[in-house]
Amino acid sequence: MDCLPQALAGLLNVVHLEIINCNLITIPVFIGDLPKLSVLVLAHNKLGLQENWDFLSRPHIRQNLAILDLQDNELHNLPKEVVELDELAICLLDDNFLETLPTSLKEMHGLSVLAACNNMMRIFPYNLFPLDEFALDLANNPFTSRYFVIPNRSQKYKVPSLKELAARTVVDYRLPVATRILPRCVMEYLQSVQFCAICSGGYFDSFVACRYVPRFRVYIEVLPGDGYLHGPGFILNLCSRRCMQPELKFCELLNHLTPEQYDDWIKDMF
Ligand SMILES: [Zn+2]
Repeated sequence: MDCLPQALAGLLNVVHLEIINCNLITIPVFIGDLPKLSVLVLAHNKLGLQENWDFLSRPHIRQNLAILDLQDNELHNLPKEVVELDELAICLLDDNFLETLPTSLKEMHGLSVLAACNNMMRIFPYNLFPLDEFALDLANNPFTSRYFVIPNRSQKYKVPSLKELAARTVVDYRLPVATRILPRCVMEYLQSVQFCAICSGGYFDSFVACRYVPRFRVYIEVLPGDGYLHGPGFILNLCSRRCMQPELKFCELLNHLTPEQYDDWIKDMF
């Protein structure tokens, strides 16, 4: 089918519309004017060939569409018209050629599920984190790193106190400590030191929690409640945001480990 019949414009009560496997390269604007349409399944077409998304800019569809399925459509970019759908909750983008996901997805406050498996993403979309109440499935993308470090949701970095900074200096530079002179509470504080997973520097009360996720299956869920990312991987604490930035450095570091060394590393960490 090359184009949709104009008669579809008369489906004024249609809520759920599926147009699948039709080799369509464009969708007529009148689809965006169907007043009650909230679920639109356009999987297995070729909408990425023309990139004409005017139908998604129409007022009715912008205000009503909750579920959009664009799986297997030869998409190279996520159209900005999708990001502008005010009520979109579920967006399915599997089996396309997407290399990135736009940061503007963070503005879609109603979006709860985004699936983009089997695409062409080489870089993990760190730009999307932290997200609120969100499920993101990115399985089977050719990520170049074997691991990802993602900041934990609602993590507020507590600036270290002067006491902590002084204690970090003592620990990091292995300064001699006059154990007989120092008050016991200071000694106990020094002994409570933890070590950063990236730089091995000491930290005390101030740290950045991150989730560390292996590449082969990436499914992240951010749920309300405990403020943690759910999914594979585990939480790591870092001494500062500075150590969060070079995620790739961290990935490289672990990429050089053999599986046995990696297992040892995990045991050491926990
Ligand atoms: Zn560090």
